[in-house]
Amino acid sequence: MEIEKLLKKEAELKPLPDEANLGFGIHFTDHMFKMDYSQGKGWYEPKIIPYDNFSLDPAAVVLHYGQAIFEGLKAYKGKDGKIRLFRPEENAKRMNKSAWRMCMPKIDEQEFLQAIMELVKIESRWVPSQKGTSLYIRPFMIASEPFLGVRPATDYIFAIILTPVGAYYAEGFNPVKIFVTDKFVRAAKGGVGEAKTAGNYAASLMASEEAKKLGFTQVLWLDAAERKYVEEVGTMNIFFLIDDCLVTPALSGSILPGITRDSVLRLAADWGIKTEERAISIDEVLESAESGRLKECFGTGTAAVISPVGSLYYKGKSYEVNGGKTGELAQKLFNEITAIQYGDKEDKFGWIKEI
Ligand SMILES: *Cc1c(COP(=O)(O)O)cnc(C)c1O
Repeated sequence: MEIEKLLKKEAELKPLPDEANLGFGIHFTDHMFKMDYSQGKGWYEPKIIPYDNFSLDPAAVVLHYGQAIFEGLKAYKGKDGKIRLFRPEENAKRMNKSAWRMCMPKIDEQEFLQAIMELVKIESRWVPSQKGTSLYIRPFMIASEPFLGVRPATDYIFAIILTPVGAYYAEGFNPVKIFVTDKFVRAAKGGVGEAKTAGNYAASLMASEEAKKLGFTQVLWLDAAERKYVEEVGTMNIFFLIDDCLVTPALSGSILPGITRDSVLRLAADWGIKTEERAISIDEVLESAESGRLKECFGTGTAAVISPVGSLYYKGKSYEVNGGKTGELAQKLFNEITAIQYGDKEDKFGWIKEI
């Protein structure tokens, strides 16, 4: 793929934000990648252009029927000054799975990676270098055809934007308080829970707003059919260390297949820890918390890597996990994955792609 480049002049470049106060998703870089799709023509005019508004017809399908998917990954700058991506091929594959589910066009995986690599290279001055910071990469696709009938659109836009983000744990690991909801559900089997599609996040807002009002950080989701089995925590996958076994819900159709989830399973197995992907009920989790068998609980995702859970609140009762403190395994997994991402440790699984 030949990417056309229409770059800003030196004098037009934005000043870089303060690395100590980046936040998440607030600042955007100077340029973005964009290409268009039309049925019969395929993807065309891939280009890197100054970051700017899109022009969309008010009847664009995405605005009415929500054909929108996205991905999220990060570029990390190491002490050696090199910039690394973590398992980006997995994001390319998952983007196409989401596209399939939402009746949207596929993107060649090599071209998806090429677009990210070329854009990040151009924007390399935006990759922050303070510990824990990174450049968050957001590829996304929306239906742009102006049409008010319900059927898959014929025209799409694929774009990639970049935002430098701060360290998730600026003040160290802080185990979070989780509200287990049996009132709202995130996704049902047969639905779109497996796809990284925009509507899933809109659908999750009410539950997390309610939980926040009650003083909790996030929601733990149960399955839609029985409100019995654990699915995810907020927008992360979830793990439980019960006795000496690391358990996570199996990918049953309503759970997002996280790349961090997969990395944790592979690392734990490599360390000789027993792992299980299976249905796990909230009753089993809470019983093991009460009997002291629940040693650790944590969420996994690209943004936080590992997010330790300090307590679970369910039906009017609070259950503490590991005395409300970060567990040893959670800490070890966080240290290992971030060390690989920043190039401080050997990449023995071949997870790193250097820019
Ligand atoms: C993106 C996401 C995850 C985590 O996936 P990673 O690839 O590990 O970042 C988990 N759950 C939901 C709902 C997500 O959107």
